[in-house]
Amino acid sequence: MNNWNLIGHEWAVKFLAQSVATDRVAHAYLVTGAHGIGKTTLARALAQALQCTRDNKPCGECNACRQVATNRHLDVQMIEGVPPRYNFEKDSLAPPRASDREKRALRILQIRDMLRDVSRAPFEGKHKVVILRRFEEAEEEAANAFLKTLEEPPRYARFILTARDATMVLPTIVSRCQILNLRPLAISEVEEALVARGKAEKDRARLIARLSGGRIGWAVRASADAAMLESRVRYLDELDAVLMEGRAERIARAGELDKQKEELPDVLDAWISWWRDVLLIQTGDGARITNVDRENNLRNAATRFARDQIYRAIQRARETARYLAQNVNDRLAMEVLILELPSV
Ligand SMILES: [Zn+2]
Repeated sequence: MNNWNLIGHEWAVKFLAQSVATDRVAHAYLVTGAHGIGKTTLARALAQALQCTRDNKPCGECNACRQVATNRHLDVQMIEGVPPRYNFEKDSLAPPRASDREKRALRILQIRDMLRDVSRAPFEGKHKVVILRRFEEAEEEAANAFLKTLEEPPRYARFILTARDATMVLPTIVSRCQILNLRPLAISEVEEALVARGKAEKDRARLIARLSGGRIGWAVRASADAAMLESRVRYLDELDAVLMEGRAERIARAGELDKQKEELPDVLDAWISWWRDVLLIQTGDGARITNVDRENNLRNAATRFARDQIYRAIQRARETARYLAQNVNDRLAMEVLILELPSV
C-alpha cells in the first residue's frame, strides 16, 4: 500500500510519483489496458497528486485530494462518451427506442466544451486536469478537435486519456501522449488484496479474483456490487438449461435472451469461460479453472462432452461475440449459436 492507495500497478505509480515530485509531469498521458483494470483509478490518483496542496502527494486528506476523489474539484473534470440521441441542451438522454443500439461516443460538442473550459486558467489549483475516459470511443472529428490543443496545450493543462488499447486511438494523438500500459495483476495478488482490505471473505475473494482475470478495478467493483456476480450465475444457469433442451426450446430461449440485448456480450463471456473450464478439467489442469463455485457441474460436463465439441462451442461463442460487436442481427446470431451447442 502507498499514498496513491492503488492495488498493484506499482511501476506506474512509482513513475508518476517521481514525475510529480520532480515537477516533470507530462502534458498528456494515455493509460491503456483491459476494461476494469484500474485505468480511471490511476488517472484520478494522478489528478489528486497534481492538485494536492501538501507534501507527499497525493496526501488523500487535504481539501483538494478530497474534492478530486468525489469529483467536486473545480479544476479537474472527467468526460466520457455518451449514448446516441443524447440531448446536450437538456443534458439528458432522450428516451431510447428499442431499435437503438447503445453505442457510446465522445462527441465534438463535449470536446469543444472541455476546451473552452481548459482555455481559462485554473480557479484554485496549479493545474487544470482533464480525464478523458474511453478515448477509443471518440468520434474522429472530436479527436481531431482535441489534437489541436494537444499540440500546443496551455502550460497549466494536463490531460489523462484512457483507452482499452493504444491502437484504437488516432496515432497523431498517441504520439503526443506518454503511454502507461496497465497489465492484469496476478490472480493471487487480487485475491489477497480483496481479503486484506476487507472487500470479500476468502471463498468469495477466490472466485472474484479468478473471474476478474487480474483486472483489479473490476474485482473491487464486483466485491461491492452483488448484482455483478448474480447475473453471471444466471448466465451459467441458462447455459446449463440450453444444453438439456431440444430445438424448439432453444429457439424460444434465443428469443428470451434477445430481450436482454446489452447483456449478450457478458452472457457470451460467461459461457466461454465455462467451456474453457470444462476443457481445463479434461486436460488435467483443473486447478486453473475460473468458475470455482461450479466445480461439480464442470467436472460433470467434462465427462460428457467430447474434446472437439468443447473446442467448437468456444470457437462459435467467440465468433458470435464478434458478430454482436459488428451490429449484425443479434437474435439470429444467438439462435444459430444456441442451436449448434451440443446436447447432454
Ligand atoms: Zn492532498
